[in-house]
Amino acid sequence: MRFITKVVFFMFVSVVVAFAKPTIYILATGGTIAGSGSGALDTSYTSGTVTVDKLIAAVPEINKIATIKGEQISNIGSQEMNNEVWFKLANRVNELLTSGKADGVVITHGTDTMEETAYFLNLVVKSDKPIVMVGAMRSSSSLSADGPLNIFNAVNVAINKETAGKGVVVTMNDEIHAAREVTKTNTTGVETFKSPNAGKIGTVFYGNVKYYMSPVRKHTVNSAFDITKIKELPRVDIIYSHSNDNPDFANIAIKNGAKGIISAGMGNGNPFPTVIEVLGEGVKKGVVVVRDSRVGSGETTLNGEVDDTKYGFLASDNLNAQKARVLLMLALTQTNDKAKIQEFFYTH
Ligand code: ASP
Repeated sequence: MRFITKVVFFMFVSVVVAFAKPTIYILATGGTIAGSGSGALDTSYTSGTVTVDKLIAAVPEINKIATIKGEQISNIGSQEMNNEVWFKLANRVNELLTSGKADGVVITHGTDTMEETAYFLNLVVKSDKPIVMVGAMRSSSSLSADGPLNIFNAVNVAINKETAGKGVVVTMNDEIHAAREVTKTNTTGVETFKSPNAGKIGTVFYGNVKYYMSPVRKHTVNSAFDITKIKELPRVDIIYSHSNDNPDFANIAIKNGAKGIISAGMGNGNPFPTVIEVLGEGVKKGVVVVRDSRVGSGETTLNGEVDDTKYGFLASDNLNAQKARVLLMLALTQTNDKAKIQEFFYTH
């Protein structure tokens, strides 16, 4: 090829690459975003009835900004979320991003357990590329359904260069939250997702993305965990505390083979006295017990009102109980060493 021909060819390729649309995979798992009822004002509906093709078809605007591909991972209410779907989803996200097939992924998901799935993926997927989770509080047949705009915003977050390196993010109701921090705080309102300890990291207004903060705890490429190396998760139970409590649930968890227990204690993670004793007996039998709190924000501190050193308990830092459970399950796939597990809670 003559020099001038080569230059023109190179310029042509550069222009094509510069204007090529990013490829975004929408992986659908179910939830209210894919739910439907019998009428626009019907408060009863069934989650996970609408397929991924229909979710995509409801938002034609996304095709102008990205090459969209859809896949159905599951179609369930996220109260049915389980390890099998988690592994399928995490492996697929990992494969799409590391193989270069996708520039980013959007995962549609029910809101009930979105925070658990988000934190799980945040800890096990090995990619810097955007991973965006999205849901809806109103079903697809509802008046003012929030799903379509949430999906439009999620795709915009997924194609935004600044989303790279932030781990898994959750976007709903014009806000962007980090996976470690976000939690569902309202049973029915569209403003349900909050990050009580850290605040939202960004906003997305009709597709206009703005970031104000970045997560600093270890995630994705820097996390200690890797989905390709994990085949199953151990049983970890959560035990919720209350006044005039009794240790029956703690006894049953230990007897039935829990490898770990998250104690959602009162205040700064205080279980009822008789429960403390049973949990302490559990530790002697090899169960890893992490004290957490039922409060919903703030840190659970070591050796506050409970003598953790004497009982051998760990503390959850400021993870809520459902996320502490995710981290403890992953930690137990690597070690039973309590010091190492406590370190995971301080770094992830
Ligand atoms: N139960 C539904 C789910 O989590 C609620 C929702 O998606 O908003 O699948």
